[in-house]
Amino acid sequence: MAESAVRTRFAPSPTGELHLGNARAAILNWLFARHHGGAFVLRFEDTDVTRNVAGAETAILESLDWLGLDRDEDPARGGAYGPYRQSERYAIYREHALGLVEEGLAFRCYCTEAERAERRSAAVAAGDPPGRDDRCRALTGAAADLEREGRTPALRLRVEPGPVEFRDRLKGDLAIDGADLGDMVLLRADDRPTYNFAVVVDDILMRISHVIRGVGHLSNTPKQVLLYRALGVEPPEFVHIPTVLAEGGGKLSKRAGAEGLLNYREQGYHPDAVVNYLSLLSWSSASGEEFLRIPELLAQIDLDRIGATDAVLDLEKMRWLSGQHVRAESPKRLARRLVPYVEPAGAELDGADLQRSAEVIGHRIELLTEAADEIVGLFREPDRDDPEARSALDAPDARPALGVAHDAWTTSTWERRVLKKSLVAAGESAGVRGRSLFQPVRVALTGRLRGPELADVAYALGRKRVLARLESAGARGKTDG
Ligand code: GLU
Repeated sequence: MAESAVRTRFAPSPTGELHLGNARAAILNWLFARHHGGAFVLRFEDTDVTRNVAGAETAILESLDWLGLDRDEDPARGGAYGPYRQSERYAIYREHALGLVEEGLAFRCYCTEAERAERRSAAVAAGDPPGRDDRCRALTGAAADLEREGRTPALRLRVEPGPVEFRDRLKGDLAIDGADLGDMVLLRADDRPTYNFAVVVDDILMRISHVIRGVGHLSNTPKQVLLYRALGVEPPEFVHIPTVLAEGGGKLSKRAGAEGLLNYREQGYHPDAVVNYLSLLSWSSASGEEFLRIPELLAQIDLDRIGATDAVLDLEKMRWLSGQHVRAESPKRLARRLVPYVEPAGAELDGADLQRSAEVIGHRIELLTEAADEIVGLFREPDRDDPEARSALDAPDARPALGVAHDAWTTSTWERRVLKKSLVAAGESAGVRGRSLFQPVRVALTGRLRGPELADVAYALGRKRVLARLESAGARGKTDG
């Protein structure tokens, strides 16, 4: 297939937030489209109004944006094959369904569901197989009478017995018997399309080349293949991906993996780690490498490497990957990522403060929230009332130590390594070394006796704050006399 012809779609129903399971389908579709220089389309399947949830569309878009899964076409930006919300496409479904009626491939069915159910149970009660219920297939003059009764018909596809064959890229050739399907509804009497009909009409009109979705939809595929046949279009390539199970096995539940994706953002997972992790959960890289950045995932995605078995969620691993992605990021980008985590704490930090902090803590944390907690703690005015810490400031060498640090760091170049060296050198010449030098300075800066490398703390805080904290803890630089 020509590369530019690859068009994939993610087609969620706005019935709730994205969770890790359905985000994975979005990720694979996106990676595959981008790998081939094709298009990635988002379509909302919102015809079941009773299940639609207010705000779900926004949350889904926000989740995709957070993961960095940009769309070429979606309801917000439009595109050549819109609208991209099924509820806005009813006229299109009707036109296609009526076209099939005209060709004799579909027919009007005036039966209500209740009548059909009644006939089914009557057959069962009589010991007969329910068989095919196609009484409306042959309706002619009687149809008009029924319409006069005020009934509007559903439109059904004629489904004949015989093999319905199709191919799934992962499962190979499959077939079922049309006799098992019955005459499928295309449009219900209230004009709403059925899921299978709307999906096929949309995938055709939106020129979708590959349908990558959860294996749960495999049972819909023969029905969809029949619709492609009826509409005279070659089906796309189907790729049904295995299910994601909760940690320890079992279905994803609200407590285990099925909570909204935005929870993981809140918990501080690096979004690239989520993309990396959910990719790995589906396919393995040829090199066996687990930590893959987005460009590597894009280069290496290979649908033929998708495993056949269900994948079990391992959040520990996703967390580990989050740490890898945090470490791989430049302090500048990491600082930008940290803004929404730090801001709510009201810490007054500017971009440069955040960038220095990111440089110092980026290699130590896994979740962005951990980084934010550390940074917010660091920039909060130190509370030096802890008695043990207080005693470090009351030690005989404390004041000279603070003065040494103040002098050294008034002029020192603001680089981590230089800060350490200049402090030690100034201490040497003043005769204050080791603990007697570091402890009071640490307490002056942080209010604590322990913590990260002192020069890192100073570096992150920045010269102005460091000197102010040293002064408020009692330092008097040479210049003060
Ligand atoms: N709207 C369907 C769902 O949310 C997806 C349909 C499809 O991918 O074909 O499960």
